[in-house]
Amino acid sequence: MLVEQIWTANNYRNFNYLIACGETGDALAVDPLDHEKCLAAAKKRGWQIKQIVNTHEHGDHTGGNRAMIAATGAKLLAHKNAGSRIAGIDRGLGAGDVIKIGKSVELEALDTPGHTMSHVCLLSHTDTPALFCGDTLFNAGAGNCHNGGHPSELYQTFAAQLAKLPDKTQVYPGHDYIANNLGFTLDREPDNKKAQQMLPQMREQDPSRALVTTLALEKEINTFFRLHSPSVIARLREAFPDLPDDPDAKTVFVKLRELRNRW
Ligand SMILES: [Zn+2]
Ligand SMILES: [Zn+2]
Repeated sequence: MLVEQIWTANNYRNFNYLIACGETGDALAVDPLDHEKCLAAAKKRGWQIKQIVNTHEHGDHTGGNRAMIAATGAKLLAHKNAGSRIAGIDRGLGAGDVIKIGKSVELEALDTPGHTMSHVCLLSHTDTPALFCGDTLFNAGAGNCHNGGHPSELYQTFAAQLAKLPDKTQVYPGHDYIANNLGFTLDREPDNKKAQQMLPQMREQDPSRALVTTLALEKEINTFFRLHSPSVIARLREAFPDLPDDPDAKTVFVKLRELRNRW
């Protein structure tokens, strides 16, 4: 499996992706908003884009579909319930569905509600798994829920699916928000040494050569995976004095998501 992460350099800081089979050159584009950059990258690598996956229905993920399909004839795949919000879906995806690219690549669709209620992530079936997670999981952060999502569903997705993936899973999100998100981590957990160490480097990072994190690293620096951390809970109690002594993980997650909205 070959992966090209494409930095769009737009105001929303989107990442687009090409995933290709090294044997055939067949490729799949994930959320190819910047269709020109995606097409140029495919041409440079000698890849043919045969499929597009939209992780979800927001315009900064679907906005390149029309031009990309016109240029390549690619088939469009998205969550099976996104049909009323994404035009021209050729294949609706449900949990466990497998997407083949060329001869050598298989991606599994995960049904990951929370940011919206028709969001898929893609998990590669490779020795080192890779997760293409749209606006569900960001480097050091989580997607917002105010454009068609629900925080409690996002918690379920994190707890029941994402947290259970192998620690070595590589994380490929839909946006570059890492520096800002590390700031939130340190606001919530000022003694997080790893986040302290990373923040200055990430502020200087060139997003066209972005750090690819692993799930193990996310569990160190992403507040939304640190729901049992005593310092996260202690700081949370300053904002929510009624927080119980031993709050459950879902309560902590939902309150963190609420604080992130106004941070
Ligand atoms: Zn979105
Ligand atoms: Zn987005």
